[in-house]
Amino acid sequence: MKYRESKEQSAELLRLVLASMGQHDAAYNPVTYTVWFEHVAGINNRLSQGLAQAMQRKPRLSDADMWQLYLSFVADLDAQSMQRISGELQQMLSGMAESASRTGSQAEVYGEELQGLSTALSSGDGELLTPAVANIIARTAQMKASTLALEQQVNVSQQEITRLKAELTRTRDDSFKDALTGVLNRKGFDQKLTDMLAQPLPGGQTHGLIMLDIDHFKAVNDTHGHVMGDRVLQALGEVLRSVVAGDADLSVARYGGEEFAILMPERSLAQCQKLAELVCAHTRAMKIRDRRTKAVVLTVTISGGVATMRQGDDAQALIARADAALYQSKQAGRDRITCAPD
Ligand code: GH3
Ligand code: MG
Ligand code: MG
Repeated sequence: MKYRESKEQSAELLRLVLASMGQHDAAYNPVTYTVWFEHVAGINNRLSQGLAQAMQRKPRLSDADMWQLYLSFVADLDAQSMQRISGELQQMLSGMAESASRTGSQAEVYGEELQGLSTALSSGDGELLTPAVANIIARTAQMKASTLALEQQVNVSQQEITRLKAELTRTRDDSFKDALTGVLNRKGFDQKLTDMLAQPLPGGQTHGLIMLDIDHFKAVNDTHGHVMGDRVLQALGEVLRSVVAGDADLSVARYGGEEFAILMPERSLAQCQKLAELVCAHTRAMKIRDRRTKAVVLTVTISGGVATMRQGDDAQALIARADAALYQSKQAGRDRITCAPD
């Protein structure tokens, strides 16, 4: 249980939550409540940071914003989906077990009757033979029907298991995905970075991290509005996905706001730099067009920092070096990539 506040403490938090909820547009539902609760209770730092960032770009948060914050920073694996999927699985398995046991007990009787027929045959008693054959024909038809039913049930169950498995994967993937850009969200990034750092390195190799940040993005929002700003983020998401498309082991994430990251396991600084330069060039060439007139409305650039893992590095140290390199790119005039020395 992650909530340990007493009734009195939570009553105080309730008051604070209501005050916060009143200042935004999102509905007063459990998702919104949970987001504000975890924030005011001070028990979810990453959520509080995400919330601060969201409010920086938008003074009044909507249902969609709340849902995104909930998915990115609160939800583990959507508990409701998990419960439903496991319920469906259980139902299906008990259906299968039932028809298997029905077929099993019929098979036993069938076996006994076959034995009876064989005895009748060997005794050469014609009197016994006719009813035994009639009986066995009827039972064979029954047996056939029941094994067919079991076979069908097994087929349906297999399809059902495949469907539920896909749904489970999708639910899990969704909780790691950024809804706007389709790349990993911060939670997904943290997970992949942890995985990458835990991966043993073959001698002389290293892991790389690219941090990217859109240049003067505030001005884009100020001049063209947030909707256009969001379209830029989506377009950059597409560029990033296309750039890593050929390498299944690379991961792209939205680190926060207008900052993105690429995780590059087992890649050298030079390889990371090459990819970062490519992203930089593709972004420079990206044209955001008016949906109606198709005229180019704006273009943007990004700055990037690249760092590779050093002995004894943890996640924070690697991020800090890539971030420092990114800062240097900004200082040096933006629209460029800087590499932190190996
Ligand atoms: P710099 O070149 O130094 O990075 O300047 P900047 O303007 O990009 O940086 P700054 O950090 O001042 O502003 C970032 C802006 O990004 C502020 C915020 O409004 C905007 N932003 C962050 N997330 C979103 C989003 O999801 N949608 C939109 N439209 N804007 C966002
Ligand atoms: Mg930034
Ligand atoms: Mg920026």
